[in-house]
Amino acid sequence: MKQSNLFTKTIKENPKDEKSLNAQLLIRAGFIDKLSSGVYTFLPLGLKVVKNIEKIVRQEMDSIGAQEILMPSLHPKENWEITGRWGVKEMFKIKDEEMGLGWTHEEIITPLMKKHILSSKDLPKYVYQIQAKFRNEPRAKSGLLRGREFLMKDLYSFHETEKDLDDYYEKVKEAYFKVYERCKLKTYLTLASGGTFSEYSHEFQAITSAGEDIIYICENCGLAINKEIKKDVCPNCNNDKFKEEKAIEVGNIFKLKTKYSEPFQMKNTLMGCYGLGITRLMGSIVETYNDEKGIIWPNNVAPFSIHLIDLENSKKAEEIYEILQNQNYEVLYDDRTEKTAGEKFNDCDLIGTPLRIVVSKKTGEDMVEIKKRGEDQTQLINIKELIKNVERLLQ
Ligand code: ATP
Ligand code: MG
Repeated sequence: MKQSNLFTKTIKENPKDEKSLNAQLLIRAGFIDKLSSGVYTFLPLGLKVVKNIEKIVRQEMDSIGAQEILMPSLHPKENWEITGRWGVKEMFKIKDEEMGLGWTHEEIITPLMKKHILSSKDLPKYVYQIQAKFRNEPRAKSGLLRGREFLMKDLYSFHETEKDLDDYYEKVKEAYFKVYERCKLKTYLTLASGGTFSEYSHEFQAITSAGEDIIYICENCGLAINKEIKKDVCPNCNNDKFKEEKAIEVGNIFKLKTKYSEPFQMKNTLMGCYGLGITRLMGSIVETYNDEKGIIWPNNVAPFSIHLIDLENSKKAEEIYEILQNQNYEVLYDDRTEKTAGEKFNDCDLIGTPLRIVVSKKTGEDMVEIKKRGEDQTQLINIKELIKNVERLLQ
């Protein structure tokens, strides 16, 4: 994309009404715009990141046999009365309290799947969606970490036997770790309260000072325990030494068993539900990867892999842009003529693209300057060498 076509502008000053680092950086760099507390627009750069994360999540969900659907956000009261959850404080209600906005989808997926699962022969089934959730969060002050409207991937599984539920639960756990690994976000499997039907649920917690949870990581086996259920010894290895950390929950998996199938009279069916916060994950990546100049995106989720900066208004830059585009690299090409070199470099650091390529008079005919975001040293490289080695340079 040519930067002269990008309609968003970067902002020098931190927005006054944002305390959280992820929102400050994402707003200043033009990834998101705040509409009201916990409600954000995703601008072209931000939407690219969301789509990159969604792609990773979809691949991992599809790989464990889950089928994608899209359920409505507008929910009739009736469904929620069946499970007794119409009174939940997070739910936004509309139209004289006859409808509400979906903050989770057990009340919709269960009667939906009941129509399609007619006997045990139709089990197991795994269904997910990526969709906006609405929650009237009282403390929506953490940018993308806690939205009142946010994107979640929610997967629901339906089983005949407990063993089958247990086996699938383990598969989802593995798929979640793959998602976080591909997003370069280290997460700790964390025991949390399991609700009525199992002793624990499992959270995936990423360490960050912006997190609102406290977890205790077992120094022996690495399993973490949420403060809300703090134990004296690790249930996995009996060790009693823990490291306390602030963390943010980027995923949560539950064995629901018959908690929702029973009220909807879906006979002999056990359920699991598995949430993953797409936009919270994006905010957590920003909280983890940044410096005083801006964001430092991991390559897999970056809006562009390469930021090509032209300082001499040259054909050379245009040609490099064409070649890289033809090789299917995502390139942001700063072709703006009215900006100074300093302004271009600052925008580049703020936006946080993994590899910077600079074309200027200084570099000579066949050479360009390259620099990785997050590293200080620059390097002059022959253009042909560069083109051959982009993949390696992005590692
Ligand atoms: P928290 O304890 O942080 O409020 P939760 O237990 O309410 O989270 P779940 O209902 O399990 O969250 O939702 C599944 C996932 O959706 C969470 O793991 C998180 O990644 C994401 N999520 C939950 N609430 C929000 C929110 N307000 N904004 C952004 N993402 C959220
Ligand atoms: Mg919550």
